[in-house]
Amino acid sequence: MEMLNVKVNGIAVSVPKGSTILEAARVAGVEIPTLCYMKEKNEIGACRICVVEATGARGLVTACVYPVTEGMEISTNTAKVREARKTTLELILSTHDKKCLSCSRSTNCELQKLCRDYGVDENAFEGFKPKYEIDDSAPHLVRDNNKCILCRRCVAVCQEQYVSVIGANDRGIDTNIGSPFNAKLNDVPCISCGQCTVVCPTGALVEKDDTDKVWAALADPTKHVVVQTAPAIRATLGECFDMPIGTNVEGKMVAALRRLGFDKVFDTDFGADLTIVEEANELVERVKNNGTLPMITSCSPGWIKFAEYYYPEMLGHLSSCKSPQQMTGAVIKTYYAEKMGIDPKDIVVVSVMPCTAKKFEIGRADESAAGVPDVDVAITTRELGRMIDRAGIKFANLPDEQFDSPLGEGTGAAVIFGATGGVMEAALRTANDWLTGKSNDNIVFEEVRGTMGLKEASYDLAGLKVKVAVASGAAAAKTVMDRIKSGKADWTFVEIMGCPGGCVNGGGQPIQPQYVRDTVDLKAERAKALYAQDEATVLRKSHENPAVKKIYEEYYTDGFGGHKAHHDLHTSYVARKKYN
Ligand code: SF4
Ligand code: SF4
Ligand code: SF4
Repeated sequence: MEMLNVKVNGIAVSVPKGSTILEAARVAGVEIPTLCYMKEKNEIGACRICVVEATGARGLVTACVYPVTEGMEISTNTAKVREARKTTLELILSTHDKKCLSCSRSTNCELQKLCRDYGVDENAFEGFKPKYEIDDSAPHLVRDNNKCILCRRCVAVCQEQYVSVIGANDRGIDTNIGSPFNAKLNDVPCISCGQCTVVCPTGALVEKDDTDKVWAALADPTKHVVVQTAPAIRATLGECFDMPIGTNVEGKMVAALRRLGFDKVFDTDFGADLTIVEEANELVERVKNNGTLPMITSCSPGWIKFAEYYYPEMLGHLSSCKSPQQMTGAVIKTYYAEKMGIDPKDIVVVSVMPCTAKKFEIGRADESAAGVPDVDVAITTRELGRMIDRAGIKFANLPDEQFDSPLGEGTGAAVIFGATGGVMEAALRTANDWLTGKSNDNIVFEEVRGTMGLKEASYDLAGLKVKVAVASGAAAAKTVMDRIKSGKADWTFVEIMGCPGGCVNGGGQPIQPQYVRDTVDLKAERAKALYAQDEATVLRKSHENPAVKKIYEEYYTDGFGGHKAHHDLHTSYVARKKYN
């Protein structure tokens, strides 16, 4: 590879030919501010915050797209550069709705930080200021274009998700980001993944805040308020409190939820284990009875919505199992309600999820085992972080506490649901034991681990050859579905998650600035926390979960996939029209 020698602020580095100034600066350990840039996803040089001086270049150049040349000397912090960046920020602010005091992104806003760093005059330029209606039509997110800086990061990730329901509308000063023909987000085939909210540098795209509903339930003495937390939350919530990425905060999270006033703190891991036994049973039934194969997992509501919109003719491949969130909610409102003698109507189930699509999922039809919704409110990791802050709880100082019984018990297999490949590995552990009729020690299925978009593996389980695939992100899901459609896929079982990397990288997870997203493998670091917990757990197979065993002994007495279990724990799907 041909290398070029350059200097960044006097620091000599050697970088591959074709590198940009920004890449060379990062090699030199010099950070250049960016706003529109996302490594390998949105390299458009549009915002001009990254301007620098460079020998051989005329005037200031945008570091994110300008290639280095041999011997180039780059200066990233001259008076001219600082002045230009400051003016750019002041121009951005001239059309910006400056509401930092009430904005949910305040203190975690890339624009706000840059304005502070560069000492801008927020009223330097006054002029025409477009006024946009806020789009809160969808259950999962809110678009406020009055805070949009037109960086187009959201457009790039939506395109990467193979959905592309947002783009630039109109021209010039009227340019705005939205859906085709200015349609509301709820009227276009958005899959609710929330990946756009994670990359937005400002408060223009945020999750729909449902915390008021939770506060109201907690304050209502007539309600029994139960919370469940998804496997991935323990690996990310600490980031809301400046803890290192990949810190497992399970014990502190449980303690915080108790201090917020929830009557019971349950673990969605229980529902994940339940999902595995129901799903494994469904798979065996399909194999035995020539059912539709491959069977595809149904835990991820973003993926389900993607399938319903983009592959409506292939919904027969989806497992009918509800997601772990919904299974846990269903069990709380049936089995637990009965045990506790509480009318399900008086139970409020709150779930803390890594995912904005969960806000959509709780409103789906056929998700009400007890005749009332299985889950009442779904909040994201970010919303829980804000609730903990608002309650004045000092998260870092909390002791470690345990989930409540009986629905707080989960296995190592359930914990890894939060990472891509985790559901598959959990299913393989159970299938291997069931097919061999013994408890096997080889429970690590390395081939399905890792953050690649698409992984394939084949296993010999007691003489049965099983080919599997694991996909994360809607683009990888598309590859899988197109292969199945073309008849070229010979998989038996497929795991699909709507977000790249799975739930650890869900659309409701803590927002890290783009510099961190460009330089740290968030998916891998967060997943490590889950695999470490799995390794340290005594019970690592879903079918060994004592709470799961007990529920089949006491409640679902007609067994896996029996009539009662089917009524409570399974669901159906709808073929959706992309545009009406
Ligand atoms: S988007 Fe950022 S700069 Fe704008 S109001 Fe919100 S916090 Fe302030
Ligand atoms: S939620 Fe997902 S599908 Fe919907 S607009 Fe955002 S990135 Fe696109
Ligand atoms: S909504 Fe956010 S990510 Fe999208 S263009 Fe506007 S500021 Fe950028």
